Amino acid sequence: MVKLRFMGGTHEVGRNAVLLQSDETNILLDYGVKIGKKPEFPGHIRPNEVDAIVLSHAHLDHSGGIPLFYLRDEKPFFATPTTTEITRVLIRDMIKLSGYYLPFEYIEFDAMMKHRKNLSYGSKVRVGDVEIKFSNAGHIPGSAMIELTGNGKRILYTGDLNTENTRLVHGARIPRQRLDAVVIESTYATADHPDRKELEISFIAAVKEVLREEGKVLVPAFAVGRSQEILGVMQAQKLTAYKVVDGMARAINRILIENPDFIRTPKTFMKIINETREVRGWRDRRQAVRRADVIVAPSGMLQGGTAMFYMERLALDERNAVFLVSYQVPGTGGDKLLETGRFTIRDKDEEVKAKVHRFDFSSHCGKTQLETFLRGLKGKPDVYVIHGEPESCDALAQWARDELDLKAVAPDEGDEFQV
Ligand SMILES: [Zn+2]
Ligand SMILES: [Zn+2]
Repeated sequence: MVKLRFMGGTHEVGRNAVLLQSDETNILLDYGVKIGKKPEFPGHIRPNEVDAIVLSHAHLDHSGGIPLFYLRDEKPFFATPTTTEITRVLIRDMIKLSGYYLPFEYIEFDAMMKHRKNLSYGSKVRVGDVEIKFSNAGHIPGSAMIELTGNGKRILYTGDLNTENTRLVHGARIPRQRLDAVVIESTYATADHPDRKELEISFIAAVKEVLREEGKVLVPAFAVGRSQEILGVMQAQKLTAYKVVDGMARAINRILIENPDFIRTPKTFMKIINETREVRGWRDRRQAVRRADVIVAPSGMLQGGTAMFYMERLALDERNAVFLVSYQVPGTGGDKLLETGRFTIRDKDEEVKAKVHRFDFSSHCGKTQLETFLRGLKGKPDVYVIHGEPESCDALAQWARDELDLKAVAPDEGDEFQV
């Protein structure tokens, strides 16, 4: 038997962490941070109780708390090479920008990086009596599902999951091995996404309409994944326009180019990057406002980042458009803009004249894909649903009980189960 302890990301999105305990070995799966007014970490565990840390992907809600384990101790940290490199960019940025107290500094982060162990999709590694294997999770470049075998049990931790192909990465495949348990995310367990092809076509049509009237399109987008995905969509749909990308996306693009195994079409990706102007400073930024047709800039929810600079200059002209391309968390600038049509510009609450629309480019499974994934698993695994709003976690667990007759729960923080 093995034990699973749920330490965070239960009935919420943010600060994911699960501890797997076999007879001899304790393995921590993710240890994220939820960034609000102050950072929130998962439940406490003494670093010397953990033998190894395995990271599913780079997003801070999975990676942001890992440096806490390197204040004194030394232990291996497993991730795909792309995940490690993107994590490096994101955590450094978090430390740099944190106006709040963080319980670690660059030195702990460097220690963490020193203990990195690369693991590719399909290869295995053993820690104590547990075997660890990665496979593609389809969420962002480098994202992995983690399969763990120990004490005769096989457990799958999906991390953030997408089974559909996107422009940037291949969709995840349903594993063929029999499983004893699965820990699955549920971000979109209550809703389906629109058809991807139709979404791309309507996005491009909307962009073209703005350009025809000599407007500019601002696409606020997260630097990891979504920026590159939008550039990929514009390329695939043959949009001829002057495109610029701003923010951390540049550093991320370098990483993706250096690790071509983790993206779907490396050659096309190179072409996309070559066709897109990268903004390198304030001069480029001012020039972009004058000359560019489409500007892709963080942050994706209009909470800081260089998108704010572009908002100031573009939002009050009715020819322009602001096309949001991700979920907007309630309370963010992007959410306010969608709900009220207003935005704070130069400390003034203004009515935005530019067209505003949200396109649902998700990198998570929708309801149907989550259900299809669970239905496809072999061995009648126990199901643990995390990483969603309370109603999403509960709905997917309920569905697995009712429709698949599986033992399924949406655990709370601190809950422990035996598999
Ligand atoms: Zn993620
Ligand atoms: Zn996540």
